[in-house]
Amino acid sequence: MHKSLDTSIRYLKGIGPQRAKAFARIGINTLDDLLYYFPRRYEDRSSFKHISQLEEGAPAQTIRAQVLAIKERRSFRRRGFTITEIKAGDSTGSISCVWFNQPYLKNYLKAGTTLILYGKLERYNNKLQMSAPDFEIISEDKSEDLLSVARIVPVYSLPEGITQRAFRQLVNQVLKEYSLQIQDFLPFDIRSRNKLLNLAKSLFYIHFPDSLQAQEEALHRLSFEEFFLFQLPLALRKLRKKQEEGIAHKTQGALVEEFLRSLAFTLTPAQEKVIREIAWDMQQPVQMQRLLQGDVGSGKTVVAMAAMLMAIQGGYQAALMVPTEILAKQHYANIIGWATSSAGRKSRIRAGLLTSAQNAPEKKKLLRQIKAGQIDLVIGTHALLQEGVQFKGLGLAVIDEQHKFGVAQRSLLSHKGVNPDILIMTATPIPRTLAITIYGDLDVSVINELPPGRKPVLTRQISNAQREWLYAFLKEKIDSGQQVYIVYPLIEESLALDLSGAKQMYSELKNNIFKGYNVALMHGRLKDSEQDKVMSDFKSGQVQLLIATTVLEVGIDVAGATVMVIEHAERFGLSQLHQLRGRIGRGSLESHCILVSDAATEDSRLRMQAMVNYSDGFHIAEEDLKIRGPGEFFGQRQHGLSGLRISNPLTQMQLLKHAREEALELVGRDPQLADHQHLPLKEKLLARFPEYEKLIVVG
Ligand code: ADP
Ligand code: MG
Repeated sequence: MHKSLDTSIRYLKGIGPQRAKAFARIGINTLDDLLYYFPRRYEDRSSFKHISQLEEGAPAQTIRAQVLAIKERRSFRRRGFTITEIKAGDSTGSISCVWFNQPYLKNYLKAGTTLILYGKLERYNNKLQMSAPDFEIISEDKSEDLLSVARIVPVYSLPEGITQRAFRQLVNQVLKEYSLQIQDFLPFDIRSRNKLLNLAKSLFYIHFPDSLQAQEEALHRLSFEEFFLFQLPLALRKLRKKQEEGIAHKTQGALVEEFLRSLAFTLTPAQEKVIREIAWDMQQPVQMQRLLQGDVGSGKTVVAMAAMLMAIQGGYQAALMVPTEILAKQHYANIIGWATSSAGRKSRIRAGLLTSAQNAPEKKKLLRQIKAGQIDLVIGTHALLQEGVQFKGLGLAVIDEQHKFGVAQRSLLSHKGVNPDILIMTATPIPRTLAITIYGDLDVSVINELPPGRKPVLTRQISNAQREWLYAFLKEKIDSGQQVYIVYPLIEESLALDLSGAKQMYSELKNNIFKGYNVALMHGRLKDSEQDKVMSDFKSGQVQLLIATTVLEVGIDVAGATVMVIEHAERFGLSQLHQLRGRIGRGSLESHCILVSDAATEDSRLRMQAMVNYSDGFHIAEEDLKIRGPGEFFGQRQHGLSGLRISNPLTQMQLLKHAREEALELVGRDPQLADHQHLPLKEKLLARFPEYEKLIVVG
């Protein structure tokens, strides 16, 4: 009687307590874990050479040869170190092969034994030799499998204390003994529609493919499986949400129309399209959960504003949460400006600004008004999430620059109302298919164009040695009436040091290099009123050169600024650099972004290169994803991605899309996975994601 695949690996021959521990450290506890521990790469050792054809110094090569002689000696250099050497030959010649400190080999490699050897041929003491080649003994008994030579050979990231050879044997043993227990949990119709290999075969071929094509087919099936299991809970959540009640907003009305008419520009077709999508969604009596993607400067704010006015004109309140106070104030000023723009009229809407820097009486009054429904639109930082903030009737919550917030914060805000509609905005756009995977339970709208007339920003990287040129260039720009940002990195770990670096640079530039110019410094530690003064002086054009820490990173909109210098550019992530660059290039003049960096690490070099080569945020995000990988890119906030072992959402987008469609279709048909055909799938899903039990069982 065979044991099932969730049996502990302890029951395998060759696995003692010590090994079991080492295996557990890399996540292998059961037989199933072992089968799902995929090779890191493969080596094609399937084509043989004659000894006379071997090339000295070439990558590893495979031969079939006989042991002609064997000897063992002790190393002169290291005590207790043995060297086992054989002379191996075929009809065309002979070479020597050596292994170090494996004295037991002499028991296997007796003269006359036939071997397959895989290794690099090198010259040593004027003798051609393979040092520690992989080998396999060809026994008379043909039934034995060749695992390490004469085939496409899997190479694993090994647990401690085991060799590739032994690990391969272990995997092979499980595959052979337990193949009948490998039950395919993917429904048959899904498998056949998507031309997927069955599970047992896939597991076999992913470890021991007999051709590259077999490996590819196995990879295809196992990647689909990963995507599918990852998409199922998202599909279920999406389905549940559609069943939850929400607010059916009245999206047509004077307030929105008036706002759109008052704009100094015409909306881009992309903006119009997403406003229509949002309006349609808000009208539905279910909760909207929509992600709005658009590059920096694509004009997301007006879209958010239109959506908020739709909620307000129906008698609901709207909230806009942003990551920094500067940004909150900027949005607030714009909205107040619009709301009161026609002189003499009473304000069209009542807006409030909520930040953590406000004084207590001011805040108390505001909170009272919000609760009483005397404020229609609240703009704020994460201060909005505080317990004391209660709405009378929150109809729409907008979260700007969502990558700055976590999932938990999003849901906190939505709990400030009864199933309010949610609009999440991001300027770290990712390819749409990928967005669908990561935010699979959200609907996605995309602004895929910038307003007309924007000139692309010219980006270049310079070294510290080129400062003289840099300052001359900046002076030339400032003298012609343009404004300059210099951004200085400020990171949590070295806050004090960085801040003093920024201050030092400020006094150096102000008192020496840019003497006579109007230079200002901006950082997060400045008093509120001081920050306000610096920003308004920069906006009005009075400040010509603004040195700032990364408080600038998001959202700030000053059209007169045309040059952005980023100091220590290597210390910023790619999307951060792109966000920063997004602060310029907003007017009709040519803009310049200059990255100052001497850094030479491979990653930083790639980031600089991407910045110089690409201006489109979608493209930048793709590069960033490539450099960092999905797990790093999305960070801790998006769990589940780290569970992808073999699939890659970037390179297998089409497959991902199909897996998602199948997941949605299946969940639509059988929301509780109750059909007996779906039971194995349900079991697998719950084993993988126990936290989704409620989602499935409650239905
Ligand atoms: P982001 O998408 O980065 O949040 P903003 O909403 O801040 O971008 O818009 C950037 C700038 O573009 C703002 O000054 C805004 O007034 C302007 N803008 C937005 N839409 C248009 C448009 N259709 N035509 C011209 N300018 C626009
Ligand atoms: Mg914005």
